[in-house]
Amino acid sequence: MTTNPGESRGTGTKPGQQWSTRPRPASAAALAAPTAVAPRTACTACGHATGVEPCCQFCGQVLFLPRGIALSTAGLRFGGHLLEAALFVCTLGIGWLIWAFVVFQHGQTPAKQLLHMRVVHITRAGTARWGRMFFREFIAKGIIGVLAAYTLLIPYFWLLWDRNRQELWDKMATTLVVTDRADQLRPPSADRPAQADTRTR
Ligand SMILES: [Zn+2]
Repeated sequence: MTTNPGESRGTGTKPGQQWSTRPRPASAAALAAPTAVAPRTACTACGHATGVEPCCQFCGQVLFLPRGIALSTAGLRFGGHLLEAALFVCTLGIGWLIWAFVVFQHGQTPAKQLLHMRVVHITRAGTARWGRMFFREFIAKGIIGVLAAYTLLIPYFWLLWDRNRQELWDKMATTLVVTDRADQLRPPSADRPAQADTRTR
């Protein structure tokens, strides 16, 4: 196929006509959609209006988890620390470590398993996994422990005034500690190993 050298391909624009470079105005709906503020919702447990926090400020219900799973109380958290220490001593450390490495995958430590508590990952909206638990229990707590040694142990009491009862290591790991008495967060594969667990992959 040959082209006529005298023929020029026009662009379709007439002399003096220019394509507008201004962006087309978006519709009101398209502009509003990405910046729309999430509507205020009610707590599933107590009905109070919820704000930006991941848990209800009235009853402690964690908003991204099933009804009935609330933040653990400060007293239970403190009791958990004492039980953890007792278990560590009774099992000569090594037993606690093996036990912990098994239950880390369910967001628990030995004491948390006995007290029906779990660590949940806020970003994932589910139980913390093994790697996050390892980071929380050894690295984050180690760093906060050094900090606390130079600050009158004040960081250890952080959950007493925190809106989500987080310790500083919870903030580092983006986690909350919840009480799950009915074991609602137990993964389906925990007691039925034959059944493939595709939901949490
Ligand atoms: Zn509530």
